Amino acid sequence: MRAPSANPGMVLDEVGAFDSTGNVNVHSAYRSGGKVTPSPPSASSQGQPAPGSQKSTNVGASRKSGVFKWSKAPSEGGNSASESPKKGARNEFNANLRDSAVKVAVVVRPRLASEKQTKECVTVADAATVVVAARQNAAATDLANNSESSFQMDRAYHLNTVEVERQLFDELVQPIVDRVLTGFNGTVFAYGQTGSGKTFTMGTAASAAHMKTPKNHVGVIPRVVSSIFSGLPELKTRYSVSIWVEYVEIYADEIRDLLRSSDTPRAGTLVAIRESPARGTYIEGAERRSVQSEADVGDALEDGNARRAVGVHNLNEASSRSHALFTLHVEQRLLPTAPLGAGCHRFLRTKLHLVDLAGSERAKETGASGQTFSEGVQINKGLSALGNVISALTEVKRRPHIPYRDSKLTRLLQDSLGGNSETLMLACVGPTIPARDQTLNTLRYAARARNIHNHVGVTKYSADEEIAALRAALAEREAFIGQLQQQLATASPGATPMTGPQKLQQRVPNAKVAAPPNAKAGTPPPSSHGRNSRPGSSGNSTLSRASPAFR
Ligand code: ADP
Ligand code: MG
Repeated sequence: MRAPSANPGMVLDEVGAFDSTGNVNVHSAYRSGGKVTPSPPSASSQGQPAPGSQKSTNVGASRKSGVFKWSKAPSEGGNSASESPKKGARNEFNANLRDSAVKVAVVVRPRLASEKQTKECVTVADAATVVVAARQNAAATDLANNSESSFQMDRAYHLNTVEVERQLFDELVQPIVDRVLTGFNGTVFAYGQTGSGKTFTMGTAASAAHMKTPKNHVGVIPRVVSSIFSGLPELKTRYSVSIWVEYVEIYADEIRDLLRSSDTPRAGTLVAIRESPARGTYIEGAERRSVQSEADVGDALEDGNARRAVGVHNLNEASSRSHALFTLHVEQRLLPTAPLGAGCHRFLRTKLHLVDLAGSERAKETGASGQTFSEGVQINKGLSALGNVISALTEVKRRPHIPYRDSKLTRLLQDSLGGNSETLMLACVGPTIPARDQTLNTLRYAARARNIHNHVGVTKYSADEEIAALRAALAEREAFIGQLQQQLATASPGATPMTGPQKLQQRVPNAKVAAPPNAKAGTPPPSSHGRNSRPGSSGNSTLSRASPAFR
């Protein structure tokens, strides 16, 4: 556990990143190595209220907002003065940690057909400001809750077109993907009331078919996947790259593997959380599915979503009853032929958590009863534990105990909040008056999260760990060859076992021979109980999963 920093965002440096048209150009600022000519601070970056909100309560402006850029990732060779490691931040595996504030974007969804009778009360005033209108006919006694409120975040979007979705991705998510490929962990999580658009925004419900249609609405996850796979050919000129995914849900404070079925019809097998200094918090026992293409990732999502708990209530016909954590792991090993230049690492293993939380619920609004009601209670419990963690992390006067262990959700997000991860929170809100109180709650929660400072750095693996990873890859390859030999022996009894995929092709002319999962894109390290390297084990069988040719 690391203590929060009272030092306001070193990473978000408050220079303008507008292009000549006045548009915010965060991503290009990051890509150009963070060298942006400072432009005059905008009204919002000076802490001014948003246009038209002079009388408003201004919340969340303690860290200046408006325009920002993501800072340059420190290279292996050391830090420049502006990127010096945070004083006091310690990690025996990595002395090179930097302070990185959690970024928060508000995502306002459009009114739905079912809400046409209601009025809107939320407006996106500028690129980083969202305004909640005063409650009409409010009693003068409760002005604090009923006056107009303006919230300044890192970004604010009215998510009503594909262009806005793409802008959100380019400005805020792409930089995290870029970091993940250069050795940093990342997290994008959606928070908000039930029905506010979290699943829609994250694209958690995406399928294989969505993965290649970025012209349409697809959400964050398919765009992340598409970005990673389109960058692979270039990456593979220097690295041997392995990608694998895990997909778990937290339902009633238990973690269930959505990629591995259990005896119960809906949920996956239970898995546990572990911690280690090098790996941070991780899930033990969950299936790690090796993925070779965007379609493989889509298949994994589809499989998992079929098991995810979903219910119906007044505010959402397909309400997620669990928190879903989809994790992409990327391992890179420098090719023997590639030079170990500046910014290169011999071995990198990073993870990107994409989290779709279940929404906070008020029973009187959802009309829930029975199981749906008790699920709502559990969901609220996890979210309130998350709220307590956020509060403790943003406590600047003293260093309180951070109650990560109060819920599975907070344990799983331990690295993402206060740990070693570049983190983006998408605070999703509905625009209408009936949702006003919940919208205000979400925005207050989000404003607080902006003050969390993570300590990010490239995780340095020891030579032993690198060797262990290589051994695991080799073992997986051997297991794969063993499986091929076994299949061949079954197909033609009495035949001499084959020694490799080429011979399989000779014997079975029409057989499509898949490369061993580690041959090009590599293989996930076996989970500690070794279940996913078991020949023929469900899901992660290299034949059934990693090799589409065998399906
Ligand atoms: P949550 O996951 O927060 O409970 P959902 O993502 O399931 O909410 O969204 C609730 C409903 O609103 C769904 O029918 C979804 O299609 C719709 N919706 C959410 N966000 C948008 C958006 N930006 N544009 C259009 N429809 C949306
Ligand atoms: Mg949902």
